[in-house]
Amino acid sequence: MTKNIAIFGATGSIGRSTLDVVGTIDGFRVLALSGHRNLKLLHEQVEQFRPRWVILTDEETAREWNYPLPHGTELCVGMKSLVEIAAEAEIDIVVSAIVGRAGLESTVAAARAGKRIALANKESLVVGGAVVTQIAQETGAEIVPVDSEHSAIFQSLQAGRRAELERVILTASGGPFFRLPDDELQNVTVAQALKHPTWNMGAKVTLDSATLMNKSLEIIEAKWLFDLDMSRNELEVMIHPQSVVHSMVEFRDGAVIAQLSPPDMRLPIQNALTYPDRVGGGPTRRTNWKVDQKLEFFAPDYENPRFDALRLGMETALRGGTAGVVLNAANEMAVEAFIRGEIRFDEIVPTVRKWVDTHDFCPNPTLEELITLDETVRREFP
Ligand code: NAD
Ligand code: MG
Repeated sequence: MTKNIAIFGATGSIGRSTLDVVGTIDGFRVLALSGHRNLKLLHEQVEQFRPRWVILTDEETAREWNYPLPHGTELCVGMKSLVEIAAEAEIDIVVSAIVGRAGLESTVAAARAGKRIALANKESLVVGGAVVTQIAQETGAEIVPVDSEHSAIFQSLQAGRRAELERVILTASGGPFFRLPDDELQNVTVAQALKHPTWNMGAKVTLDSATLMNKSLEIIEAKWLFDLDMSRNELEVMIHPQSVVHSMVEFRDGAVIAQLSPPDMRLPIQNALTYPDRVGGGPTRRTNWKVDQKLEFFAPDYENPRFDALRLGMETALRGGTAGVVLNAANEMAVEAFIRGEIRFDEIVPTVRKWVDTHDFCPNPTLEELITLDETVRREFP
């Protein structure tokens, strides 16, 4: 049976890879595509996939749309269109691939509508993990991770029962500056931070990988996705520069189960669409076992300030409440400030920490309170 999918953030790195997958394997029809500013690419995607709905989320840019639409495609404008279309009865799967906090409302809408959510937008769980997972539980919405580490954990967890899980081991490439001496971190330029050694991704997640804030976000994402008890050390991070082992889980008998594949997001994306099935013929790269491979693992030194993003992620996942929304908003603002040349690379994480540590913590915020707090941090930054 054909599954109908909506791809929110279709023009981005994850969105384009999703279309690569959908264009190669059978069984999926693209019913909705959204883009923010890249009208030319969105138009090309519309021509190729002929969705029922095309959504231009940036209302200002939308005025410049002057392409003819294929017969049967309707143009929708604004973020609220995402919320409406996520709830359309015909949509089976929502691919949440918008970057940043902007992905929150459409992810919540897909959860409310009880859809399968192929979740790339980790920020929606960092900001509203408690709310999103609670709604999903009530409606039966199934959140299947796209983030490669979380996809690996999701796949590895199928080797045992939840009660038999001892811990999740989240791998981190360490980013492009893993081997850079501590005192050179202050001189890192925007161009250097935008180059990742193993992954080819959008600008924001690449920068987050360089500061290790991406792993901070992923720690929090993992806590919510897999309901991990942070006070019982159910989550650990290991540095693994090759990005081949995408993450692991350890069961109580000591067995460690991992998922391995070349760094290529199209495999976790495909898995999130086809789960619980595995299909062949997709566009993903294969492991070449004919060449020698070296896989390295290093335990992060939490006492070293360069790993403070990891520590901050652990603390924030343990605290829950408003800590995640503040961490995310301060991080998005700090990344933008770094790109504009207003702060140094090595000031990003300390700035985020300052916001998380000093904000007026609330343990059980509502969605509306989270959204208001996000706006407050952005307004009052730095
Ligand atoms: P990207 O910058 O390449 O694409 C972002 C998409 O979101 C684009 O389609 C853009 O038009 C849209 N967008 C941007 N701002 C928006 C706004 N304010 N409102 C609505 N739409 C907006 O980003 P990406 O690398 O594809 O990442 C998308 C998400 O997936 C992020 O949350 C990221 O952390 C996560 N992720 C990405 C990768 C990767 O390999 N790229 C891996 C794991 C997780
Ligand atoms: Mg990841």
